[in-house]
Amino acid sequence: MECAKCNIKMELRKTTFRYLGHEMTHPILRCPVCGQAFIPEELANGKILSVEKVLEDK
Ligand SMILES: [Zn+2]
Repeated sequence: MECAKCNIKMELRKTTFRYLGHEMTHPILRCPVCGQAFIPEELANGKILSVEKVLEDK
């Protein structure tokens, strides 16, 4: 996976982000030059929603 802007290899970095009021840390590919993050579709669409559901069930 390369950054489209910089043509440089993206690095896997632990990134903390918020989703619907929850903070979660997940390794995400980011460009070390411009900081552009690549968020896999499965993470953007599915997994986070599953986590959200689990939290709601408790
Ligand atoms: Zn870049």
